[in-house]
Amino acid sequence: MARIGQDIQEAARWLEAEDVVGIPTETVYGLAGNALSEKALLRIFEVKQRPFFDPLILHVATVEAIGQWVSDFPPQAQHLARMFMPGPLTLVLRKKAIIPDLVSAGMDTVAIRVPRHPLTQALLASLPFPLAAPSANPFGYISPTTAAHVDKQLGALIPYILDGGPCQVGLESTILDFSGEVPVVLRKGGLAVEQLAALLDNLSVVETSSSNPRAPGMLESHYAPATPLTLDERLPAKLHIAPEKTGGLCFDHYFEHLPESNQYMLSAKGDLEEAARNLFKALRQLETGGYDMIVAEKVPDTGLGKAINDRLMRAAKALN
Ligand code: AMP
Ligand code: MG
Repeated sequence: MARIGQDIQEAARWLEAEDVVGIPTETVYGLAGNALSEKALLRIFEVKQRPFFDPLILHVATVEAIGQWVSDFPPQAQHLARMFMPGPLTLVLRKKAIIPDLVSAGMDTVAIRVPRHPLTQALLASLPFPLAAPSANPFGYISPTTAAHVDKQLGALIPYILDGGPCQVGLESTILDFSGEVPVVLRKGGLAVEQLAALLDNLSVVETSSSNPRAPGMLESHYAPATPLTLDERLPAKLHIAPEKTGGLCFDHYFEHLPESNQYMLSAKGDLEEAARNLFKALRQLETGGYDMIVAEKVPDTGLGKAINDRLMRAAKALN
């Protein structure tokens, strides 16, 4: 069973021994391993049951460290890195040959970010190698936002979880691809697309697609809860099933047709950042509530609301 604690040196010892550990970041908890060790990388895929076509994000301590791992760092990308890193932004850049194919799924690009959590920053600063760290959940499942979430699903398979408390952002990073002609958002996440669009006049955004999983976080049925989730603006007024067997995921007002005790309100004050922080915890809580189904509503489609709605749509797609 995993030990859970705040001992950076213990986490570092396991990583130096090419094992994998749970680490806190501001986005979601990661399952980290030495990004230059094939043994550690294979263990990440094994523990997560992740297919090898799904590449990993490289985590480094500082913006300055990025240059060591990429062959091209365009000025526009450097500017954004200085603006938003450390933080919930991942850049996809052309990689240097030293990055193992297991990290990049055989592509000539690497996704790289600088996490903002102080424990993980200290851990990275103490290590002589970067960390590869996908979210610390079984592939296709809801991402973890507390150490207890990691423990519940992966605790039997990993030796240590570095406990940094609940994640401050609660959504995965926004992935921005700078390896092509124009910058492209491959995944909406914890950094609002509007903040990027304000600085990049040639920005484009890839919408959810099952046929073109350039970032498998883009797969339509990712982030699936175990209980079927319905996302339909006309619900729950049209519900044909028993309200007592239905859980509700609402934004800032309870659904009228469901008992309040069956519902999780993401943010009573209508704050999208608070809603983002609560989203995955809410989905986990509702799916273990013994309901036959979960009904959810979209949140306002602005700022982090776009990423929240993206995750809700994928969770709903898992139904079909
Ligand atoms: P996770 O860390 O579990 O949120 O997953 C990492 C996400 O980053 C996956 O959806 C990957 O597809 C995406 N990603 C990682 N490397 C690349 C890359 N080189 N190009 C495009 N997407 C990437
Ligand atoms: Mg993931």
